[in-house]
Amino acid sequence: MSLARFGPESDVYVIETGLDDCPEFRCCACALICTDEEPWQSLDIFSLDSLIDHLQKHKKRGHKVDEAFSSLAEDYDVVVSN
Ligand SMILES: [Zn+2]
Repeated sequence: MSLARFGPESDVYVIETGLDDCPEFRCCACALICTDEEPWQSLDIFSLDSLIDHLQKHKKRGHKVDEAFSSLAEDYDVVVSN
């Protein structure tokens, strides 16, 4: 299941890759690690806390991550302060 897809409201594409009791995520084509030589790299993230941390880094770089945060709020009861 995807938490966010690339679009007008999202600069990140995040999918869930883990099991219900063991959430894992993948930040697809992550702009924080992609380079000109490797433009399509994905980052595996192994906990909810790490994902939130990662999304905050995107946000600091000016990327839109609100869609991912709303999905997290709905699916995981995560409260993200701005
Ligand atoms: Zn990323």
